[in-house]
Amino acid sequence: MIQANDFVRQWRETQEDLEQAFHRVLESGRYILGDELRTFEVQLAEYWSMRHAAGVASGLDALEISLRILGCGRGDKVLTTPLSAFATTLAILKLGAEPVFVDTDDFGLLDLHLCRRLLERRPDIRFFVPVHLYGNCLNLGELRRLRDEFSLNVVEDCAQAIGASFAGEGAGTAGQLAALSFYPTKNLGALGDGGAILTNDAKLDGMARVSRDYGQASKYNHEVIGYNSRLDELQAALLRSAFLPRLPAWSTRRRAIAERYLETIRNPGLRCVGRPSGSDSCWHLFPVLVEAGRKESFLEHLKANNIAAGEHYPVAIPDQKALLGVPHEVVGDCAQARRFARCEVSLPVHPYLTEDEIQTVVETCNRWRG
Ligand SMILES: *Cc1c(COP(=O)(O)O)cnc(C)c1O
Repeated sequence: MIQANDFVRQWRETQEDLEQAFHRVLESGRYILGDELRTFEVQLAEYWSMRHAAGVASGLDALEISLRILGCGRGDKVLTTPLSAFATTLAILKLGAEPVFVDTDDFGLLDLHLCRRLLERRPDIRFFVPVHLYGNCLNLGELRRLRDEFSLNVVEDCAQAIGASFAGEGAGTAGQLAALSFYPTKNLGALGDGGAILTNDAKLDGMARVSRDYGQASKYNHEVIGYNSRLDELQAALLRSAFLPRLPAWSTRRRAIAERYLETIRNPGLRCVGRPSGSDSCWHLFPVLVEAGRKESFLEHLKANNIAAGEHYPVAIPDQKALLGVPHEVVGDCAQARRFARCEVSLPVHPYLTEDEIQTVVETCNRWRG
C-alpha cells in the first residue's frame, strides 16, 4: 500500500533521535513547561522568522486561544472559509462567536476579493480567520491590506502551511497571530496532539502563555479565564530533536514530488489544483479535482491499485450537521467550496515516497478511464 503518510518509515529513519530525546526528558524529571518546550519554541520561532512561539495542546486550541486573546467572544462575527478542517470553525463556535463563510477561489483558498466586497459593507465584522489551505499561501499583501483598512483582528490558520510563503514572505506574518498544528499528519507532526501560537507581538505572546496555563500570570495568580493547553516536554523534545531539523529536507522532497505530479499527471478527467502565482506551497496535500460525478470511481481505482487517497474535505463546513441551529452566516452560494467537497481527492505527497511509488501514482492516475 502506498500510504497517505508513512509513519513506519518515518519512525525507522528518526528512531535514534527520538530515543535520545525520550531519554533526555525522562532523565530531566520534568514533563510540563520546562526547558525542552522553551528551547523548541525558540527554534520554531527562528525557523519561521517570527519573534515568538508558544506551544499549546492542539491546533484547535491555538486558534481558540488566539481569537480569545484578541477579544473575540459571544456574538462576534468572524469571517472565515467554508473549506477547511472543521477545527477552524469549531474554534470560533466554542467562543460563542459566529462564523461568516465566504466562498473560495478555484484553488480552494478563501476568495479575498469576495472578502473585501463583504467587509466594505459589513463594519460589524472585526475578526478574520483565513486558512492557508493544502500548503498554499494566501496573498499576504492583500491580507495585510484587509487587516489595516478594516481594522481586523486576524488569526492565520497555518496548520497546513508551515514553510509556505507568498512573494517571499512567510505564511503567518500578515495577521496579529498565527496558529499551527502538530497533529501527526501535518508537515511538522508530533507523536500525538500539539500546536503553537506564533506572533511578532510580545504582549500577545505573553497573553497566550498566561492563557494556556489556566490563566496564571505567576504561580497561583490567575488573572484571566484560561485553558489547560500546554505542549508537553516529551512532544517538544521529539519535535525539536527529530522532526524540526528534518523539516527543510522534507519540504524540499514534497516540492519535488509535487512538481513531478504537475508535470506528468495527464488525464482529461483530472485537474491538478496546483498553486496560485505568488504562492510557494509547502505541499501539505496534493489536491486534484475529478470531473463531476466521477470521484467515487477515481477513489475506487486508486484503492484497487493500493494507493491511499484522501478527501479534503468531502463536506463544506456550513453543510455539517453540527452547524444546524448554531448562529452563522453563509455569504452567497459557496459554489466553489461545494465543488471541492464533491470533486477533490488528495494524492500521497509525503516525503518518504520512493521513486517507484511516485511513478506508480502517476501511471495509475494517467491510466484511469472513469
Ligand atoms: C489540522 C488542522 C487544524 C486543527 O489542528 P488540530 O491540531 O488537529 O487541532 C486546524 N486547521 C487546519 C487547516 C488543519 O489542517
